[in-house]
Amino acid sequence: MKKIKEEIALIVGSFITYAILITFLHIDRKNKEYIYSLGKIDQIESEFLVISERFENLSEFFTNSRLRKPDITTTLATEDVSKRYIIFNGIYEDFKLLKNYGYDDIIFILPDGILFLDMKKPQISGKKFIDIDNIVVVSNTLKNSVDKRFYDSMIYSYPLFHNNNLVSYVYFTVPFYTVGKNLSDIFRNFYVFYIHRDFISLNGSKGYIQSELSDEYFVDRKFYNLSLKKKEENIDIITKINIELKSKISERLQKIDSFCVPVKIENKPYIVTFYSIKDISDRHIGYLVSYTLDNTFFEFERTFYITAGLLGIIVILITYSVYQILKLKAAAEEKAITDKLTGTFNRMAIEPIINAELDRSKRNNKPVSLILFDIDFFKKINDRYGHDKGDYVLKKVTEIIKRSIRKSDYLIRWGGEEFLLILPETDIEGAKKLAEKLRTAVESYSFKDIGKVTISLGVTQIKTGEPLDNAIKRADEALYAAKNRGRNRVEFNYY
Ligand code: GH3
Ligand code: MG
Ligand code: MG
Repeated sequence: MKKIKEEIALIVGSFITYAILITFLHIDRKNKEYIYSLGKIDQIESEFLVISERFENLSEFFTNSRLRKPDITTTLATEDVSKRYIIFNGIYEDFKLLKNYGYDDIIFILPDGILFLDMKKPQISGKKFIDIDNIVVVSNTLKNSVDKRFYDSMIYSYPLFHNNNLVSYVYFTVPFYTVGKNLSDIFRNFYVFYIHRDFISLNGSKGYIQSELSDEYFVDRKFYNLSLKKKEENIDIITKINIELKSKISERLQKIDSFCVPVKIENKPYIVTFYSIKDISDRHIGYLVSYTLDNTFFEFERTFYITAGLLGIIVILITYSVYQILKLKAAAEEKAITDKLTGTFNRMAIEPIINAELDRSKRNNKPVSLILFDIDFFKKINDRYGHDKGDYVLKKVTEIIKRSIRKSDYLIRWGGEEFLLILPETDIEGAKKLAEKLRTAVESYSFKDIGKVTISLGVTQIKTGEPLDNAIKRADEALYAAKNRGRNRVEFNYY
């Protein structure tokens, strides 16, 4: 009973230990992933800034070197839109060059918000800027500094002066697909801008196709055409990645902040990093997403499972060792209370046995009795047949006794050829009957080479609360009486 409890405690303990270890391991893995994610997001942010600054520098250079010149600013100062072709013709060759760099348009707006010249569509002019199709609604146009705005494009704007008077703003627009292409060329990953539905509706969605990633995000059609024309196999993989990710990240996309996710496609490990793109008033308008071949997350996963496995083996080995130690300890304990010759309990066992039994008897209100018995004329047996025969008789008597008692009774070798029987749930009458049965059982057995051997028995019942020594003393007195009254008999000493 005690042993089974110990084993259960050991298994439960090991299991809890393992669960705690795995929890720590899991937290550690999540931490590592989190830190690595921050690094990836940092990386895409700086890459984005590098490209953005390239266009900013080029726009500023072009403004200073070509637009902030009297031939341009004098024309603008007239506010006469019919003169727009002077500027158009003057910078058309430069505009073509800038288009090769990825610029989409250059627009001149008068300080009162009227469109002076749209390089892409020179035929329209004179409209209020906010009414113009295909250009994003902008506010805060009077901001007197470099003004970057996002929707489907990055927009760089600069004020132009004539005689210290503001005469116009110039807007350079660089579409996201160009930025994505530049990023891909320079950083050798693959980048896509996904624009949220709310922001493309400003333009009408004819230039966009819905992304496989989410129903809410769209990709510039030009981006796809560009990639398809070059027969990029990347586009295939990205489509596969997006389809794979769609259900996994739909909730994450609602949070509109930057994050990254690992994904395995065709056995290749990717990390897909989502960088939230904000407009000038900090509204989330979409994601710049990078697709990088990177197995770090899968390494973290692998390390986790390997470590978890190793810890599992270690825990099992420790548990097994502890189990073996417990087994050895139990065996040693049993050995310490077992008599070598007869296999019965020895005197050392008396304390734990009697304590447990008296406790139980008190609880159940049941009596406990004792029988003390001793082999008659044992010295003679030794003397006549030798010590080995004596040992044989001792063993045989024990066997005979064991056969006649209950499993719950305890047989203790009390010393020499004297034995004590502890009989739980037995009163003195029951004990007397058993003693008589034992006496006849020994008497009727024919010992090899020796013949008849007899025993004398003293019986008593333990009084509730009395020290064990008292009860044993009474049993001893009864045994002494049995010896005195001719041996091979039972005497009792009732309190
Ligand atoms: P009684 O009827 O009065 O009990 O006579 P007895 O000869 O049995 O008396 P006693 O108790 O004095 O003798 C016990 C003897 O048992 C003494 C001792 O040498 C012997 N003895 C004790 N332990 C062992 C043992 O392990 N093996 C053997 N063979 N003899 C033992
Ligand atoms: Mg004796
Ligand atoms: Mg004796």
